[in-house]
Amino acid sequence: MAHATNRALFFAHQAQTTPEPLALEITRAEGCWMYRPDGTRVLDLISGISVSNLGHRHPAVVAAIHQQVDTYLHLLVYGEVVQTPQVQLAQALAATTGGRLGQVYFVSSGSEAIEGAIKLAKRHTGRYQIVSCRQAYHGSTHGALAAGGGEGYKPGYLPLVPGFKHIRHGVLEDLDRIGCRTAAVLIEPVQGEAGVRDASPAYWQALRQRCTDMGALLMVDEIQTGYGRTGTFWHYQQLGIEPDVIVTAKGMGGGMPLGAFMAAESVMASLKANPLLGHITTFGGHPVCCAAGLATLNVLQNSDLIAQVPHKARRFAQGLAPIGELRHAGLLMALEVGSFERVLAIQKRLLEANPAVLTDWFLYCDTALRLAPPLTISDHEIDLAVEAIRAAVS
Ligand code: PMP
Repeated sequence: MAHATNRALFFAHQAQTTPEPLALEITRAEGCWMYRPDGTRVLDLISGISVSNLGHRHPAVVAAIHQQVDTYLHLLVYGEVVQTPQVQLAQALAATTGGRLGQVYFVSSGSEAIEGAIKLAKRHTGRYQIVSCRQAYHGSTHGALAAGGGEGYKPGYLPLVPGFKHIRHGVLEDLDRIGCRTAAVLIEPVQGEAGVRDASPAYWQALRQRCTDMGALLMVDEIQTGYGRTGTFWHYQQLGIEPDVIVTAKGMGGGMPLGAFMAAESVMASLKANPLLGHITTFGGHPVCCAAGLATLNVLQNSDLIAQVPHKARRFAQGLAPIGELRHAGLLMALEVGSFERVLAIQKRLLEANPAVLTDWFLYCDTALRLAPPLTISDHEIDLAVEAIRAAVS
C-alpha cells in the first residue's frame, strides 16, 4: 500500500499551506499528462503554475540535464567560476532583449529574483522607494510580499520591508505617484494572480515615459508571462516598450528551479563595488538548472511553439465561449465561473472526470478558474480539455 503510505506521510510530515491541499499523488509525468499510482492519467492545464511550458520531461531538457549531471554539479558560489551552462544561457538571454539588457544575475526562484531586482534598483539609483501595483503578486519573501498587493496576506508578518507604494495597475491617473524618490516601478505586464488583467497600450507608453522622466527603473516581472506563455518570448515585446530590468523564473528552468534578473551592464555594475558582493547566492544559476534552462530556451526559439500560442488560445476561447468570459494573454487564461464555490466544485469534478483534468484558482480573483497548459498542448488535447470543462460546468 505504497499509495496510502505516501499520502499519510504527506499529511504527517510535510508542512501544509492550506487546510485542504489537493494531495494529488503523481508517480510519473510526460508531456501534458501526469499519471496517478493506479495508472490513470491527468491532463495538466496548469503547468506547475506556468513552469512546464514545454510539457513535462521534454526530451531536450532531460538530455541536457543528464549531460550536465555527468559533467559537474555545484562548484562554488555564484559569480566566481566560469561555467559553460551559465555563460551560454546568459548570452542567449541577453540576445532575447536584442542585447539591451546584456547582463544576467542567476538565482533559484521567482521571489529571490524579485528580491535581487529590488536591491539592484535601490543600489543603482541611491533611492529607496519602490512603486508596485495593487493586486500584484511578486512572491512570498519579505520584500516580494511587501511589493505585492495581496493585503490579506500581510497582517501577520508586519512590519514588512518599508518603502513600497502601491498604485492601481493600468490606471493612468496613478502614474503621477511615481516621483523623484522612486527607485523603480515593479510591474507584471499582465497581472496573473489578479485573474489575468492587462493594461492599455497608452498606459505602457505613459508608464515608460514617466519612469524615464523621473529617473526610475522600469522593472517587469515576467516570471509568469515570460518564456512564450503569452505568444512572444517576453510579454513586454507586445507592449511597444523597453524595460530597464526583466525578472524571470518559473518556465525558465524547464522544470528545474531557476530564476534571474536582467539589466544593462551599466545598471548591474552597482552590485559589484562599494561594498563588493552587493548580492550573493550559493546555488543561484546551478549548472544543471542552467543546462535545462538553455535547452528550454533553444527549444522555444527553434520551434513554432510560441508562434502557435495565439491559435491554441483561440481554440480554448472558442470552445469555452458558452461558459463565460475568458480573459487571456496567450495561454495564461482565466475563465469566469461566478464564485469561489463554483471554482472549487469544477476543479474537483474535473479531477474526477475521465480523463481527469487539473485546473486551479487565482490568489486574488476568486471567481475565475485558472488555465495555463503547457505550450506543447495539441489541438486534440485542447478539445479534450474543453469538453471536460464544459461537462464539469454544466
Ligand atoms: N512573480 C510572479 C508574477 C509570480 O507569478 C510568482 C509565482 N507565482 C512569483 C513572482 C514568485 O515566484 P516563486 O514562487 O518562484 O518565488
